[in-house]
Amino acid sequence: MNLHEYQAKELLQQFGVAVPKGIKVTSQQEAVEAAKELGGPWVVKAQVHAGGRGKAGGVKFVRTLQDVEELSGRLLGSTLVTHQTGPEGVPIHALLIQDGVDITKEYYLSCLVDRSKKRIILIGSSEGGMDIEEVAAKTPEKILTLTIDPTAGVQPYQARDLGFRMGMAKKQVDQLVKVVSGIYNLFVQKDCSMVEINPLIVTNDGQVMALDAKISLDDNALYRHKDTAEMRDPSQEDEREHIAHEIGLNYVALDGNIGCMVNGAGLAMATMDVCKLHGGEPANFLDVGGGATAERVARAFKLILSSDKVKAILVNIFGGIVRCDTIAQGIIDAVKEVGLTLPVVVRLQGTNVEAGREMLAKSGMNIMAADDLTDAAKMAVAAAAK
Ligand code: ADP
Ligand code: MG
Repeated sequence: MNLHEYQAKELLQQFGVAVPKGIKVTSQQEAVEAAKELGGPWVVKAQVHAGGRGKAGGVKFVRTLQDVEELSGRLLGSTLVTHQTGPEGVPIHALLIQDGVDITKEYYLSCLVDRSKKRIILIGSSEGGMDIEEVAAKTPEKILTLTIDPTAGVQPYQARDLGFRMGMAKKQVDQLVKVVSGIYNLFVQKDCSMVEINPLIVTNDGQVMALDAKISLDDNALYRHKDTAEMRDPSQEDEREHIAHEIGLNYVALDGNIGCMVNGAGLAMATMDVCKLHGGEPANFLDVGGGATAERVARAFKLILSSDKVKAILVNIFGGIVRCDTIAQGIIDAVKEVGLTLPVVVRLQGTNVEAGREMLAKSGMNIMAADDLTDAAKMAVAAAAK
C-alpha cells in the first residue's frame, strides 16, 4: 500500500525528519486559506500515488494568492498523467500547499530491503530530484549504499560516512545523521517496504529537509498498524485490486486480455507463464486461496468479468483443500448473477473433480473443458484472439 506525500511527511516528522511547512487541502477555498496561513511563496502539489508529478504539471511554484486559487481550481478534480501512471492517469482529490523553499542542492535518499543481502539498506546519491533509475543506469558510481546490521541498527558513523560520500559538507552531514536514523526507525517501526526522499535538499540557509516523500507499506503487516492502515486511499488504487483486497483475494491487475482464476500463488504464476509461452497475455494474477468458498469464487469470477479488457477466461484449479465442486458452484452462481458472454476454459483436477465437471456440463454454460494446462492455455489464447 502506498501513501500520499502529505501522509509520508507526517510520518517523517514524527520520526524527527524536517520537512517544509505545508497544509493538505481538498477544495479551492481551503487552498487559499492555507496559502494565507503559510504566507508565500508557495508550491502547490497534487497528491497522487505517482512520482514524476513535477514534469507532468502536478507541482508548481506560485507567488500570488490568485495563482494559488487558479491552479488549485484547475488541479482539483482533474486527472494527472505522469510517466508512472499509464495513460489513464490518477485522479487529484487533494493538494499539498507548501512553503516554497530556496534550494541550494538536491540529494536522493531512500531505505528499502535488499533481498539478496537479506538486510535493510539505505541508498544515497548526490543526484537528487531526478529519476533515480536513470542515474543508476547512466552513472552507477553515483548510487551509494549503506547496509544496516539488524542487531546493531544504524550507527551514526555509517550515516556520516554516507553523507561525506554523497558530497555533503560537515554541517549537513551532522543533520543527515538524524535523517538517516529517522527514516530507518520509521522503516522498521511502521513495517515499510520503501521510504524514499527525492529530493532531500539543503536550503539556502543550510538546513537539510525532505522536500518530497514516498512511502510504501508492507500490506502483510498492516493488521498491526491501525494508524497507517487508515491512510489507504482507494481512489488511487486499481478499483478491482481494492475490491479484491476487501474480500481477501490476492489479485494484481495486468495489461493482457486473458482473465485467470487460479488457486495457489505458484499455480497462478505457472498458469500465467504457460499463457505467455503460447502467445497470450494475462489480464490479471488471481489466487483465490486454499480455503475458498463458493461465494468467494463467485466474487472472484465477477471481479474478472467486470474488466472490459478481458476477452477470455481461464480457470485452472487444483482441488486440494478447495474442492472442485465448490469452484464449479461459485462459477455457476457468478454467471447466474452477471451473465456470461465470454468464452471460458476450465481445467479442474483433484478432489471431487467428477462432480465439478458434471455440474459445469449440466449448467448449460458455454464452457470449454481442458485436461491439462498446456491445452487449457492454448484454448484460452485462441479464444481471446478471436
Ligand atoms: P515529483 O517527484 O513527483 O516530481 P517533487 O515533490 O519531487 O515531485 O517535486 C519536483 C521538484 O519540484 C523538486 O525536485 C523540487 O525541485 C521542486 N519542489 C518541490 N517542492 C518544493 C518546495 N516546497 N519548494 C521549492 N521547490 C520545490
Ligand atoms: Mg520527487
